[in-house]
Amino acid sequence: MAHIVMKDDQMRGYLTGDPIKALCGKVWVPTRDYEGLPICQKCADERDRIVAGMKRLN
Ligand SMILES: [Zn+2]
Repeated sequence: MAHIVMKDDQMRGYLTGDPIKALCGKVWVPTRDYEGLPICQKCADERDRIVAGMKRLN
């Protein structure tokens, strides 16, 4: 299962290998090769919510 993380956190996770917090709240170690894995539905929902919130600000 692939989780979605904020970009800055994702870079940090890559560099340090430390677990970081995904959008759904799960603490997760990101990997470079999660293509093909199903995206966590809670993360996808949360991302949509954030994107919708950003659109409202414009
Ligand atoms: Zn998730």
